[in-house]
Amino acid sequence: MELFVGVAGVDGVGDAGEIGASAAHREAPARFVEVALALPLFQTFTYAIDREPAHPLVPGTRVVVPFRSRRVVGICLGTRDEPPVRGTPKPILEVPDAQPVLDERLMALCQWMAEYYTVPLGVAVRAALPAALTGAAVPHPARKTQRVAELRGDVPSLLDRDRLFARAPRQREAYEHLESVGGRAPIELLIAQLHCAPSVVRALETRGLIAIVDQVLERDPFATRRTEMPSGHPPTAAQAAAIAALTSAKAGEVYLLHGVTGSGKTLVYIELLRRIVDERGQSAIVLVPEIALTPQTVDRFRAVFGDRVAVLHSALNDGERYDAWLALRAGTKRIAVGARSAVFAPLPDLGAIIVDEEHETTYKQGESPRYHARELAVVRARHAGAVAVLGSATPSLESWVNATSGKYRYLSLPQRVGGGQLPHVAVVDLRRRPGGSTDATARPGDPFSAVISEPLEAALRTTLGRGEQSILLLNRRGYAAFVQCAACGDVTVCPHCSITLTYHRAPDRLVCHYCQHHAPVEPRCARCGEATMRRRGLGTQQVERLITERFPTARVARMDVDTTSGKWAHADILDRVGRGEVDVLLGTQMIAKGLDFANVTLVGVVDADVGINLPDFRASERCFQLLCQVAGRAGRGPKGGRVFIQTRVPAHHAVRYAVSHDYTAFVTDELAGRRQPTYPPFVRLANVVFSGLAEAPTAALAERGADWVRRLAARDGMTGIEVVGPAPCPVERIKQRWRWHMLVKSEQAGPLTRLARYFVRRFPVPAAHGLRMAWDRDPVALL
Ligand code: ADP
Ligand code: ZN
Repeated sequence: MELFVGVAGVDGVGDAGEIGASAAHREAPARFVEVALALPLFQTFTYAIDREPAHPLVPGTRVVVPFRSRRVVGICLGTRDEPPVRGTPKPILEVPDAQPVLDERLMALCQWMAEYYTVPLGVAVRAALPAALTGAAVPHPARKTQRVAELRGDVPSLLDRDRLFARAPRQREAYEHLESVGGRAPIELLIAQLHCAPSVVRALETRGLIAIVDQVLERDPFATRRTEMPSGHPPTAAQAAAIAALTSAKAGEVYLLHGVTGSGKTLVYIELLRRIVDERGQSAIVLVPEIALTPQTVDRFRAVFGDRVAVLHSALNDGERYDAWLALRAGTKRIAVGARSAVFAPLPDLGAIIVDEEHETTYKQGESPRYHARELAVVRARHAGAVAVLGSATPSLESWVNATSGKYRYLSLPQRVGGGQLPHVAVVDLRRRPGGSTDATARPGDPFSAVISEPLEAALRTTLGRGEQSILLLNRRGYAAFVQCAACGDVTVCPHCSITLTYHRAPDRLVCHYCQHHAPVEPRCARCGEATMRRRGLGTQQVERLITERFPTARVARMDVDTTSGKWAHADILDRVGRGEVDVLLGTQMIAKGLDFANVTLVGVVDADVGINLPDFRASERCFQLLCQVAGRAGRGPKGGRVFIQTRVPAHHAVRYAVSHDYTAFVTDELAGRRQPTYPPFVRLANVVFSGLAEAPTAALAERGADWVRRLAARDGMTGIEVVGPAPCPVERIKQRWRWHMLVKSEQAGPLTRLARYFVRRFPVPAAHGLRMAWDRDPVALL
């Protein structure tokens, strides 16, 4: 766990628009205060109150205290008169705010999180508050600007380009680089990355192909985004039934809204919010997987509720985030829309929490506290007496089981709105094709048809001919998956991670997708010295190149984590698709999240098998969800749509039931597979990862950890716990750290919490070899 100590003393924070302390609080103050600090220590700290504090010390109030000769911000847990058993408490330094920053219910949520995920309370509290309040940052930093190059106009086709840049290859390179990073990049960065002269950029500007603008480094994209007026459709019968159920929900009830892709879940959310916010005067939270990938959904809420919506997103700086937090707490904004941390929005009188695309793994935080926002949403809704709505076309198995067992209520939107049909899905069996794979190297003469089958190619051609749009999914970025020596078989791997390096083009280099290590592409094999290095496996960059070569008039946009130079580049690409400026959108799983474009009539999955065989019990579930979701992008308008899935495993249940749009059949099969050996949702699970800079001590630590847990589990009252492992993690080494793990399975939730409470606090991790242990409860991935 990382050590974190905030620096206190931020002027003015917390004083805006607050009520004064009531006289009752001003009577004889208690002598001691118990404080939670954001430290990796499972204890709270006692401080003395040596004079009357400026503001009342009620639980949830910030206090500035000395810690190891620093000023740090902590949270008051309560006061008392008896001194601690040991030690002489130091006096507190300051009580900066008139009002607690965490009300009773948010305090209870933090307490629940600390207990369930076994983290110190201070660490849980830090996750629940904006950085400006925990003292990690200054609230209103000066805005910096930089010179940015922005593409102007349409995406030119390959033919246009050949004309445009006939005698200017450097300009073309810069232009295409800009395009591949989402249409905008800081000039300094552009010049550095391409090693080009500033005159190249100036020439592009003179020709009107780019504009050079001053851009505020951190900007709020929603401040300038325009929204279209909502279409105001009357709800369908199924939507009306769902809305009626949700608006008459009992306090704290949880609903699973299972609606096929294009069934109009957003309208249900909006109508619920109207009742909650407009009619009852309450407030609500809407969680989305990632703001920059779902600008359309966010815009729909903004279109209806205008400036009563606070959009909490990563492009906000600490000051803006804090302003939004204040507006939510004061009630001037009634709806918080955001990614997972929006579950902590300080809304009073909460009426509903909506978790859109509840199956998405982005709801799980990857670092301490490793909370799952869907779980917190359910807990918070219970505390607040609000209704929780978990929406998805492909619910997580956990939510499905909760809904079928009656723990959650089940609502279904079984059909697309307006009589629309789910698209027809055709399977292309790659085993029946010459070459038998989507590896361009398998057919040196015709790399295109090795990657895109004849039926998919024909469909692309027809779709382009009709002026309609296509989406192509390949869940692997880069150009080639790895490079291998054809003579000795050696594969180039990352020196810091046990993972192959991915070949990237433009710029030409090998990249580690775990640690970002870069290496030049060597013509000769490091092991045998032969000049026989070959690129193998397919990535999005290669598909992009093949498509632009085969369809030179098509306007192709690529979207993956490489195509971004700013946090907002992805939303920009999606906006272009929405405006009809892109014919083919190609990308990784990023393009499968909730897009609703009526003119997309074709979806092609270039290789459905990426990830299907990962050593992770959720691999099939992920694959099924991804295939269903991406297929669901097709045929959302009156023109209909169709889908091609290229695969080598057409009989795999994840593929088979995605083809037939049969969620229930998939779940039935998949659940049967989680019984033996048992995996969630039939068992509670923690993945415990031990890591260190040397292999042997890491392995030894893992062995000791597993021994400890086995002995604890053998004690009274600890029934139904099973330890699997330890063993090296599937990815054995990341960023120079060796990694081992064990799985702790428990029939019941309670014993797992109790075991963790003891184990995580007491198990000694030596301060040598950089050894660490991470307890990840309800993990979403085991890699
Ligand atoms: P989902 O999230 O379930 O995939 P969306 O909420 O994106 O679906 O809705 C799909 C499309 O259907 C949107 O373009 C939306 O405007 C439209 N829509 C939703 N409800 C209705 C309705 N009752 N009548 C007509 N169109 C609707
Ligand atoms: Zn690496």
